[in-house]
Amino acid sequence: MSSQRRHGIGMTSARTRERLLSRLRDSGIDNPRVLEAIRQVPRHMFVDEALASRAYEDIALPIGHGQTISQPLVVALMTQALSAGKHLQRVLEIGTGCGYQTAVLANLVDEVCTVERIAALFRLTRNRLFDLKYRNIKFLHGDGLQGWPEYAPYDGILATAAPEEVPRPLLDQLQTGGRIVIPIGGRSLQKLMLIEKTPTGWEHSEIESVNFVPLLSGKI
Ligand code: SAH
Repeated sequence: MSSQRRHGIGMTSARTRERLLSRLRDSGIDNPRVLEAIRQVPRHMFVDEALASRAYEDIALPIGHGQTISQPLVVALMTQALSAGKHLQRVLEIGTGCGYQTAVLANLVDEVCTVERIAALFRLTRNRLFDLKYRNIKFLHGDGLQGWPEYAPYDGILATAAPEEVPRPLLDQLQTGGRIVIPIGGRSLQKLMLIEKTPTGWEHSEIESVNFVPLLSGKI
């Protein structure tokens, strides 16, 4: 990695990052801790060098293996919905991908446990986040449909790939008082759902329509 790349794309990087933050504010992201967590993450380090100049545009980008890095506004919305202004200790993420959402979460919560089914992405991203000095992330190469029972219960669970319905293990691994943010639906369009585990039962609400890659079973 060249030093120019490591330190951002010259001076434009700070300016373009600020522009992204004002776009997020204009789109209703008002939690200062979420905005700060996003400001801290060098998104250009999570995409292919050829796409780095577009890293601070509010768009999804390809990360290889048929997967995409989520659009910053969607990352911000999901993170804001998950935290609800509270401090979270341990969060489970399903679908590590390139690790951008993972890094945003790691700036905000005590510990992130993240699961990825594609071995090559799991390895690449674990190394990337280690190089970026994140030390509060646990990585698993596994099938997120099973959650990650070892560290359960979680204060929050966030999925960045869409199943047709909420996987039972995720419900079981959530702490009472905790929240799940997950896209639910078919291949082309899904609803981003917020599911809360209250002492008396489950509460579901719809955040908005989104377009994620499908949550597939098994690891490869
Ligand atoms: N938050 C990521 C989004 C990556 S796309 C980012 O910003 O880069 C979604 C990811 O979910 C892909 O990497 C895909 O391989 C992964 N995925 C799909 N089904 C999965 C499963 N059952 N368990 C774990 N990861 C899964």
